[in-house]
Formats: sequence, structure tokens, C-alpha cells
Amino acid sequence: MSPWRASVLTLFPAMFPGPLGFSLAGEALGRGSFSLEAHDIRAHGLGRHRAVDDAPAGGGAGMVLRADVLAAALDAALAPGDARPRLMMSPRGRPLTQRRVRELAAGEGAVLVCGRFEGVDERVIEGRGLEEVSIGDYVLSGGELAAMVLLDACVRLLPGVMGKAESGEEESFEGGLLEYPHYTRPREWEGRGIPPVLLSGDHGRIKAWRREEALRLTAARRPDLLARGDGEP
Ligand code: SAH
Repeated sequence: MSPWRASVLTLFPAMFPGPLGFSLAGEALGRGSFSLEAHDIRAHGLGRHRAVDDAPAGGGAGMVLRADVLAAALDAALAPGDARPRLMMSPRGRPLTQRRVRELAAGEGAVLVCGRFEGVDERVIEGRGLEEVSIGDYVLSGGELAAMVLLDACVRLLPGVMGKAESGEEESFEGGLLEYPHYTRPREWEGRGIPPVLLSGDHGRIKAWRREEALRLTAARRPDLLARGDGEP
């Protein structure tokens, strides 16, 4: 099977791989467990100055990425028949969830478009079938960090990337719950001990305690997850 393939369209290709070049993701990239291409939208800019943006129709502040320029960059980056999902990073998009991350990681890869300025001309979103994805209810200055967040979340789920297969399954959201608390050495730190059950060696009790803690934390912090049942909006 060919490795999971990410293609990013950005005005700042030098930002990549950036944080994805370190730790788990960096090692996976080095091993070829996934590939990452950053395509420069400006290479398709217009005129001597390679213009990529223009004033918003109807007036108002800021600039808008041109549909023709972005479409040319997308068409050049995609081979015919490329069936990977095409994602437009956008605060207006559907909020990213662990479920969507899992779906994306199980596929062939993803194409990610990073906006800048006020955003992109609506027509390219429609014309190229871009799926808008948000990483949260706040506004970034560009889509690059959002793309990195999405890629990092996907890449750690690729086969062989995480050390222990099970370390992906017990985490926050995977069972519809937030994760239980962790402890390690020293046994006592600044007068604080470790919950005795974790030192008991009784795996049944430990499992039950962790489940209780996960439920308690989820009820206290994210009752919306419990109400949904499966941990996904
Ligand atoms: N005027 C736009 C915001 C533009 S921010 C609006 O109000 O909707 C510039 C770019 O940053 C966007 O095109 C998008 O690619 C990226 N971006 C900003 N916030 C984001 C978020 N929460 N999730 C994903 N991408 C985001």
C-alpha cells in the first residue's frame, strides 16, 4: 500500500513540515509512513508581482484569495483521478473531531488548502468541491497551523506510527470519554501520593478505577460528550 499522502496548498510552503518534522510525526515522515508536499499558491499568482489576492467584492476590509489563482494551484497539485478529500481550513467549517480524523487517517491521504487574509473567494470552494474544516471556534491568521493540527492528529494514527497499538484506543474521545489521570515516579512528590489502587497490582480494580475517573472527569468538564453518547458532535 502506498503511504498516506498529504498535499498542502499554502502561500508559505517554508512553514512545512515545521512541527511535523519532530517527534512521532517527524520519525514517521523520515521512515516514509506518510508523505507531505507543500505547494506554493503564489507560483500561480498573476503578473509580474504574482498577485494572489484582491479587494473584496462589495467593499470592506482586507483582501480575498482569488478563485482563479487558487484553482490553478489546486489543479496543478492534483493528478487526474486523485480521490483524496479536499479540505479547506476555515473557521466556518465543520469542527474537526477524532471521528473525522480516524476516517481521514484510514483513507489515502488529504489535500489541505490554507487560507490567508479574509479568506478565499467562495466560488473556488464550490467549484473544486472543498470541504470546510475548522479546528475550533477562534480565528487564526492563516490556515497553516490548522492544517498542521489536522495532519498531526491523522499521522499519529497511521499504522506503525505509535509505539503501542493500544495507546491510541484508550485516549480522550476514543471511547466517548476524556482520559483518566496518569501518574508515574516518584511515588511521592511534594507531599502528594499516587492513588493506592494504581500500586495494588490488581488489574481489574485498576481498570474499574480508570473507567470511574474517566466518567467523573467527563461529567465535570464535558457533559456534552456524555449526552452525545459516542463522544462526537
Ligand atoms: N474572515 C474569515 C477568517 C479568515 S482567517 C472568517 O471570519 O471566517 C484566515 C485563514 O485562516 C482562513 O482562510 C483559514 O484558512 C484559516 N483559519 C482561521 N481560523 C481557523 C480555524 N479556526 N480553523 C481552521 N482554519 C482557520
